[in-house]
Amino acid sequence: MDTATARARLEEIRGQIDRSILVLQGEHPSRRAAVDSPQDPADAGTTLSETDRTEAALAAVQTQRRLVMDALVRIERGSYGLCADCAKPIPEGRLDARPEAARCVACQSKRDRRH
Ligand SMILES: [Zn+2]
Repeated sequence: MDTATARARLEEIRGQIDRSILVLQGEHPSRRAAVDSPQDPADAGTTLSETDRTEAALAAVQTQRRLVMDALVRIERGSYGLCADCAKPIPEGRLDARPEAARCVACQSKRDRRH
């Protein structure tokens, strides 16, 4: 994949992520609770798990956004498509599936195992 294509795809992904962040923030129960009348204590449990879910989803899209932004920086620096750990080219198929990938499959799974 050439960098112009990669950049266009990454920018498209970033746009989608930004929209998801806005939607998730809009759905944030704690923000809604601030405007709502005092809650029924019976609902507290539901609201809490809803908040947790939204927070988890927000954290996930924000992590994804960081990966996409890092990939755009790598395009600027000319290191896009090279593994951040072993510096070998990342296979085309992997970049196709995950244009924001910073590592080859081998290095990424090593890294995931460490965490
Ligand atoms: Zn690697």
